[in-house]
Amino acid sequence: MKVYKFGGASVKDAAGVRNLHKIIEGESELFVIVSAMGKTTNALERVFEAYRDGNIEAAKGEIESITAYHQAIIDDLYGEQHTIPQVESLIAELHRFIESVPFDASRAEERYDRTVAFGELISTTIISEWLASVGVANHWIDMRRCFVTQFRHKDANVLMDESAPLLRREVAGSMARVFIGQGFIGSAADGSTTTLGREGSDYSAAVVAHILDAESMTVWKDVAGILNADPKIFEDAKKIDFLNYVDTIELAYSGAQIIHPKTIKPLQNKQIPLYVRPFSDKSAAGTRIDAEAANVTTPIIILKRNQSLLTLRSRDLSFVLEERFPIVFSILERFRIKTNLIHNTAVALSLCTEESWHLTEAVQALQGEGFDATINANVELLTIHHHNPECLAKYAESERNLISQTTPETVRIVRSKE
Ligand code: ASP
Ligand code: MG
Repeated sequence: MKVYKFGGASVKDAAGVRNLHKIIEGESELFVIVSAMGKTTNALERVFEAYRDGNIEAAKGEIESITAYHQAIIDDLYGEQHTIPQVESLIAELHRFIESVPFDASRAEERYDRTVAFGELISTTIISEWLASVGVANHWIDMRRCFVTQFRHKDANVLMDESAPLLRREVAGSMARVFIGQGFIGSAADGSTTTLGREGSDYSAAVVAHILDAESMTVWKDVAGILNADPKIFEDAKKIDFLNYVDTIELAYSGAQIIHPKTIKPLQNKQIPLYVRPFSDKSAAGTRIDAEAANVTTPIIILKRNQSLLTLRSRDLSFVLEERFPIVFSILERFRIKTNLIHNTAVALSLCTEESWHLTEAVQALQGEGFDATINANVELLTIHHHNPECLAKYAESERNLISQTTPETVRIVRSKE
């Protein structure tokens, strides 16, 4: 079995879906994981926000635009006005949910997951139906039936032992040899829909590859492969042909948008190679990631935006580090706040964290534990792996720098936003 993953950008219009067909044509023993089309997840986040704020009319308006966007893709694919009943019933279900289930702040994350999951359910339904109509027999899978996840909304991990028999049974029970499933979604033990974290479809594909012992996984993207820097931010970005799992996981963790950080572990555990290839050119090799590739030697530069700098001081000058670490991190864990960099002095601890809905609550809890806590929400995190003097001179020096950490391998800098 091979696993292919197509992100939102690669299926953002009918041409993208036709291109997907070209790429998978002739393949069998193939599991295809697809994200929501284009920017649908962002649109569904707006539906959720309007619903959360009690603005049901605005939520309905957003659903109308989502519907029109998908309908235009369907009509273009079929070359005429065409209805896919399963898509209509998904949209009707979304309307029903938003209009009849009252928002409950204590279950905000669960409501969010339920809303945004429609993006992948709709995209895979359209693609599966249309592929069948052009002669590609395929089996559509509701991944919520196969992926049992932690009870952790918005950022769940898939429970391998529980999920493996379900997915294997689904695959074994089908005559089709091409499978189409959603990225990004699963369900918790109580049956509620969960999501695996924004951009989590890569991780879904890796879990499928792991469970089905795939020979390889390929992510088809709108780039030539993995580059050493984001070309939109840094000049002279170059493609890297071979990467090892460890460098890749460091890159993804530092904020390289190319692959979700949770993707590598399931592949590494079974030594499954990962390809990142351009969907516009099936003959191009892209980047291959495996255990054997040598460390990269070009500097890799990653800018992670939307960070907050949380600074804690203990009021009684007790040593923050030794005694109080566990309290700090248990509070952050309780509010599911991810820390990307840690810096400490005798009495102060600075943490560069992801943006979160719960930062203010966490600060209150920390204050309750005797810390003076301040947040600077205006920061970004720059990471340079395999640095050299020229690269440091060009990118690392700035008056905006607030914290820098340097090891022989890596420089990491928290700086204020431009
Ligand atoms: N559609 C989801 C998102 O945009 C998952 C993904 O694209 O991987 O975050
Ligand atoms: Mg997406």
